[in-house]
Order: sequence, then structure tokens, then C-alpha cells
Amino acid sequence: MFNNRTKIKHLLQSEPTGNEVIVMGWVRTFRNNQFIALNDGSTNNNLQVVTELGLLDDATLKRITTGASLKVTGIIVASQGKGQTVELKATTLEVLGDSDAEKYPLQPKKHSLEFLREKAHLRFRTNTFGSVFRIRHSLAYAIHKFYNDKGFVYLHTPIITASDAEGAGEMFRVTTLPMDGTAPKNEDGSINYKEDFFGKSTNLTVSGQLEGELGAMAFSEIYTFGPTFRAENSNTTRHLAEFWMIEPEMAFSDIEDNMNLAEEFIRYLIKYVMEHNADDIDFLDQRLAEEEKSLPQDKRSEFGLKEKLEFVVNNPFERITYTEAIQILLDSPAYKKKKFQYEVKWGIDLQSEHERYLVEKHFKKPVIVTGYPAAIKAFYMRLNDNCEEGKQTVAAMDILAPGIGEIVGGSQREERYEKLVARMQEMHIPVEEMSWYLDTRRFGSVPHAGFGLGFERMVLFVTGMTNIRDVIAFARTPNNCEF
Ligand code: ATP
Ligand code: MG
Repeated sequence: MFNNRTKIKHLLQSEPTGNEVIVMGWVRTFRNNQFIALNDGSTNNNLQVVTELGLLDDATLKRITTGASLKVTGIIVASQGKGQTVELKATTLEVLGDSDAEKYPLQPKKHSLEFLREKAHLRFRTNTFGSVFRIRHSLAYAIHKFYNDKGFVYLHTPIITASDAEGAGEMFRVTTLPMDGTAPKNEDGSINYKEDFFGKSTNLTVSGQLEGELGAMAFSEIYTFGPTFRAENSNTTRHLAEFWMIEPEMAFSDIEDNMNLAEEFIRYLIKYVMEHNADDIDFLDQRLAEEEKSLPQDKRSEFGLKEKLEFVVNNPFERITYTEAIQILLDSPAYKKKKFQYEVKWGIDLQSEHERYLVEKHFKKPVIVTGYPAAIKAFYMRLNDNCEEGKQTVAAMDILAPGIGEIVGGSQREERYEKLVARMQEMHIPVEEMSWYLDTRRFGSVPHAGFGLGFERMVLFVTGMTNIRDVIAFARTPNNCEF
């Protein structure tokens, strides 16, 4: 039944051949008992299906309602209507699935993103989410293509782990022990995880990096692309509890190589989508322009979506050190007028307001910040040599993007065994448990570097959407795990 179907996207690009084809899809609208706008998700553009008067009986006509699914056989003819060159003159029409118009939540009108979040199971059928998720798909494909073409090996790192790459909390525990108070206990009353499924305490991964490093020490270049989990209770428009991350790791590479790869990668992805999803980008560009009209002048973006993407493709990212970033912030009018909520001084972790000032107000383009204070970064980042007294930095790099803030976090890794162990001890990382990781530094250690790109933040950037809940199919955030 399904294999001889023509996709609407292809049909709309064809000539009025007079040939007979079969299409299937969902009704967006039905006018004058004659004109059906049919959509099958291959494009936002609907196929106009014309049912000549007398073709269908009244009972069938009544069943052609918004949301209903149809199989239509018909002839491709030139369209009289505007906005399309061809339409389908129906010869037979079958309703595959009815949709009660009174109860169907998606009316043929504009719905708010908030409303559609509640109806996430149906929102793929709207233009906005059609475009967003086709672009998300293209990005995923382009990511694999980019690394495959460069000879990187796709490594599947584990989802359940016993290690914490960041050396910090905020993880989801994985256990099969009973939660009703009968779990086996140690003498001090704490839960005895030796009795748990894995014989130890385990969690969902927050990053595949540490395992990725092991792969890079054999294949030279690997990447991961998988889900990661963070139980951070930050209810922002940029954080999810379950998100996808791409983490390349490269042997024989330093922080410069790392920045170059990240920049080339981001540009490649944007170019790929502009080329392969031009219709969807056009749609989102117009959508954003419409949205912005309702904002006060000073809240509107300087660039439209397409302008922004073109700009990023054509202009190198700004590269500055953390120390320079702090100086720019201290010299800024915003600082002098006490506009920042958080303190600015050397040693602080840059807050979102600081990152946004740097990219949106000062440089007006993506910025790569390097050389962060060691004290605020992870144990595996390489200590920079020759630092000023009391200002030890590491070879870290974050990429900050307009409208998003941090989109990439990466570093050159500490490849020197003694320095790494000393850092781990200083930061209370259990050295014994991590001996598998340290083995790479014991046996043929090499300079290496890598980064993590948050997939949803990249989708946000490319689609111009503003809430991360709108670029993942079913968002997992604090107090929300529907569908
Ligand atoms: P942030 O400061 O925004 O919380 P982070 O410093 O915790 O980010 P990293 O640990 O460096 O981020 O993770 C690498 C990348 O993963 C980030 O640059 C970002 O793009 C993405 N990312 C991190 N946390 C989340 C999250 N909770 N939801 C979605 N993406 C995230
Ligand atoms: Mg974080």
C-alpha cells in the first residue's frame, strides 16, 4: 500500500505531466468542499488537492477535516492558484484516519510555542516544528558526514558509567536497589552499592570525553555523538536534563588545532543546512522577523536569521584570552553603570550576562575564549606554562555564540602523567579508580585535545529558536518528563 507513494516535496518540484500518482498525508485545511491542503512532513509546502464537485459523496466530504489522514490518487496538473505550479486533481480519495475537528488540538491558526510544548506529541505537524526537526535531522547527518570525511572514527561511549568526567555532582543515579528503605546498608547507615546491579555506584553519563580520549589514543581521531544527562536544577532556556553532545577528540593536537577544528565544524554545519534546508531556513527567517515585530526596539536582534548565519559562515570568530575578556568587561559601559548582576574580577566563572555582553554587545560575533583560571575548570585540562604568580590558567577554550552563550566547551588535555595526578589529588578525584584513564598517560602519552558541542544549542543557533525545549522532540527538564 505504501511503497508507490510520491512524496509531496518531490511532487511540488515536478512538472504538470498529466501522470497519475498516489499521495498520502494529513489535511491542513479544506476549503469550499473542493480544495484540500495536504501535508506529509516532507516540506512545509502543502499540496493542493482538488476534488471536483460530484467526485465524493457527502459522507466522505464530512470526513475531510483538519488532521485527518488521506490517500489520494490523482493527476498532476498545472495549478490555477497562486503559490504553486502544480496541484493534484483527485480521481479517488480514501480517508485513512478520521480526525474529530472539534477535538483536534491544532486549529488552522497560529498557536503559541508554550501551547505547543504541552502538545509536543502533535507539534511536529506544524510548520515551525516541521522546519526545526527537519533541520535537526540535517545537522545530525552533516555531523557524521563532516567527521567521516575527515577520517574520524565514531566511537559509542557508554551511557551508564561509574565515573564523573567533570569531577562534580549533578548526575542521575542508576540503580536496581529498592527505594522503599529496604536497600542493603553499610555499618554507617549509608546504602551499600556493592549489592547493587553493577556492584558499585553508577550514573548516567555527563560526557563521553574520558572514554573518547582512550579511543583517540589508538585511532588518532574519534568523535562521539550521543545523549548525555545532567541533573542540574537550572531551569533556563539553554539547559536540558537530557541533551545530545558531539565530542571529537584528537591525538597529536594542541589548543590551536582544537579551535580551528571547532570553527571549521560550526561553519560546515551552518553551510550544510543553508544549502540543504533552504526552504526551512526561509520559513524560520520570516517567522523570527514576525516574532521580533512584537518586541520593543531595544530587544530586537540586529540581524535576521539568514543574515546571522551568512555572517558566521563568512567571518572568522574572535579569539581572546580569559584575561582579556575580564579586562573588556571591566572597561565596559555596562560595568561602569553597574548593569551586571554578578561580580567581575579575574578568577570568576563568566556568567551568562558576561558572555552575552562579549558576543552580542562588544564583538557582535562568535568569540573563542581561551586560558581560563585552573581553579574553575576540570582536572584534565592542560596547565599552561609560564603563568603569572597566582594566576594559573589552563588550555581551555569555550566558544560563545550570539543569543546562546556557551555552545562549545573544550581543552587541550593534560598529557603529562605527574602533573595530571597532582591535579587530580588537588581536586579530590579518586586516582586509584581512574587508573584506566591514567594508563593512556603511562603508555605512549601524546598531546591531545577535544571539545563538546551541545547539539541542541547548535540547533537553537541555526533555527533562531529561543527556548531549548523547542528544538528537542520531548524535553526533559526539572519537574517535566511528559511523553
Ligand atoms: P553551561 O555553562 O552552559 O552550563 P557547561 O560549562 O556545563 O555549560 P560543558 O560541560 O563544557 O558545558 O559541556 C559542553 C557543551 O554541552 C556546552 O558547551 C553546551 O553546548 C552543552 N551543554 C552543557 N550543559 C547542557 C545542558 N544542560 N543542556 C544542553 N546543552 C548543554
Ligand atoms: Mg553547566
